[in-house]
Amino acid sequence: EPTDVLEMLEDVTDRFSFQMQQKNIRSIIKVDKGIGSVSFDRDQIDQVLDNLVSNSLKYTPEGGVVTLEAKVTEGANLTISVRDTGIGIPKKDLDRIFERFYRVDKARSRNMGGTGLGLSIAREIVSAHGGVIALQSELGQGTKVSFTLPLVEDGGVLS
Ligand code: ATP
Ligand code: MG
Repeated sequence: EPTDVLEMLEDVTDRFSFQMQQKNIRSIIKVDKGIGSVSFDRDQIDQVLDNLVSNSLKYTPEGGVVTLEAKVTEGANLTISVRDTGIGIPKKDLDRIFERFYRVDKARSRNMGGTGLGLSIAREIVSAHGGVIALQSELGQGTKVSFTLPLVEDGGVLS
């Protein structure tokens, strides 16, 4: 059944509220007017969102901000992004960041836990939904991961 997009993003931040409080990180949610409800596999998209938000919380120092945004973009896509004010990713690693088990230098990841699978799983799920996922990052400034979900399938509007 259709998913209310704003509610879905609020639910993600609720799932991480304890971790956010612990690191004094606040979240901002922005949803374009008129988005309302959209049909997709909620469990799978939740998994994508959980992976992205968990990365943002791992790699953002105390006092940071995580922004979740949803908008309708050209080509009848819903675009959802998760942006943080964290440590960022070096340019040289950006090409490989969606590969299985790929982690930016072991030293900074060692204490963080995890296996380097989150982004590759996110990409698989988004692809399976006919969307694309992309990451932009500035070292020391932050990271933004955006993914699209087509709103139209088989000639019929899903929303
Ligand atoms: P897992 O997701 O399996 O727990 P992981 O978080 O290390 O482990 P990915 O989610 O695939 O694995 O991320 C791969 C690597 O990309 C991370 O190890 C980290 O170095 C870098 N990375 C991912 N998201 C961010 C982010 N928001 N800010 C900074 N670096 C990030
Ligand atoms: Mg991860």
